Amino acid sequence: MNLKPDNNDPIYAKTWYDDNKIESVPSTSVLKSQSCEVLIVGGGLAGLCLLQNLLEKGIDALLVEANEIGQSASGRNGGFCTPGWALSDQKISDLVGTDAAEKLNQFSIEGYQWMERRFVSKNYESVGAKKGVLSVSLSGNPTNMEQEDSRLLLKDELQKHLKTEKYKFGYLNNEGYQFNPLNFLECLKSEILKTNKRIFTRSKVLSVETLKDYSIIKVNNNSISIKAKKLVFATGGYGGHETGKISKTILPIQTYIAVTSPLASCQREIINCDWAIYDTRRAGNYYRILSDNRLLWGHSITAIGTRSINKIKQNALKDIVSVFPSLLSNASKDVELKIDYAWSGSMAYTSHMMPYIGQIKPNVYSLVGFGGHGMNTAPIAANILSDWLSGSSEKLKVFERIPFAWNGGVFGPIAAELKYLYLKLIDKIS
Ligand SMILES: Cc1cc2nc3c(=O)[nH]c(=O)nc-3n(C[C@H](O)[C@H](O)[C@H](O)COP(=O)(O)OP(=O)(O)OC[C@H]3O[C@@H](n4cnc5c(N)ncnc54)[C@H](O)[C@@H]3O)c2cc1C
Repeated sequence: MNLKPDNNDPIYAKTWYDDNKIESVPSTSVLKSQSCEVLIVGGGLAGLCLLQNLLEKGIDALLVEANEIGQSASGRNGGFCTPGWALSDQKISDLVGTDAAEKLNQFSIEGYQWMERRFVSKNYESVGAKKGVLSVSLSGNPTNMEQEDSRLLLKDELQKHLKTEKYKFGYLNNEGYQFNPLNFLECLKSEILKTNKRIFTRSKVLSVETLKDYSIIKVNNNSISIKAKKLVFATGGYGGHETGKISKTILPIQTYIAVTSPLASCQREIINCDWAIYDTRRAGNYYRILSDNRLLWGHSITAIGTRSINKIKQNALKDIVSVFPSLLSNASKDVELKIDYAWSGSMAYTSHMMPYIGQIKPNVYSLVGFGGHGMNTAPIAANILSDWLSGSSEKLKVFERIPFAWNGGVFGPIAAELKYLYLKLIDKIS
């Protein structure tokens, strides 16, 4: 069975992170039929964090990943880590009530702090974590002049850092990092492998049979079978029918990143700061300068199909120039603006944009649905689920307040696509 991903498919295309990856510690590749207490399906940030937590508690857990660690959303994302969830605080409150919303907010901060402890540790130096996230607004007026941990930048000051007429004001937040997510996964993986060889890559779960006290999971060409007392799906936006109920609630959404060639010094004067930056439009973009002076530009989503690599490049260039026209007009001075890398990734969204964490049927659990905000939320959700699986936490009950909602079947992607177009239109009008 051929599990090697196709490099012309943007979802597996080579990223800038691949070219700047630290040496990889090989995962265990030969999976044999066996039994275990907990089987985790999916080796993104969620699955790896859960595995680490369970192993630390002495639980007999193992993880199977269809491809290599880091090829999914967790290793090819924008590299922003801030507190919060994919859904706004107000909407979380409307969904689950004020008390649960406050707890969820606290969890998101704990997840951020979990990441921060690693960002500042020597073992994670290669992730190049840098503090400071700037949010910029194209319309409206600042509501808070100053907030704790964040500073208001009015247009004049903003323009010293970002030479564009687009932005009216921004907030520079000290609570937020940018980092290399692929190297982060590599560091986490090697931490786990140092003591336990329990990560099996190139091992795709094809089917699951759930019996009273255990599940039988068939892997790859069905010749390998694992008997697990508990089964956890941490399959993000990459899971299929094998995930059962989850596949009826998750909507995989594609999103796009492009990376330019290294910027010349006259171009760096136009983006004259090293912060991670996002704009506050409903369908906005985010960007940051990478360690070799390239501009990473995240933009756009599609719920139906995916764009070709060339199309991602074209769209990104158009988008960048719409914000920073002078990046291109400097081309007359022998400086060009070229896109060297373009790729996509799949995010797991639920219809209310909050994840499903907990039991979906006897002895089967879900750890999915972090949307576009997984870098702090996946670790804390994994942490809480691992406490629950080892019988010692009440915190999981907060997640039970999040309702399971159907993804709309074949109409789900159409609705999501229309919603995105609508949001873009509102952005344009405002
Ligand atoms: C382009 C992009 C930019 C983003 N930017 C940011 C950002 O800046 N900040 C932020 O916080 N979040 C961001 N996100 C979201 C974030 O990356 C995700 O929320 C997070 O990575 C989800 O982690 P996960 O472990 O749930 O899923 P994934 O990382 O997607 O991992 C799921 C894994 O499950 C495996 N799998 C699926 N089915 C099977 C099976 N049957 N058998 C075995 N394995 C299987 C897949 O191969 C995959 O490796 C971005 C996402 C994308 C795509």
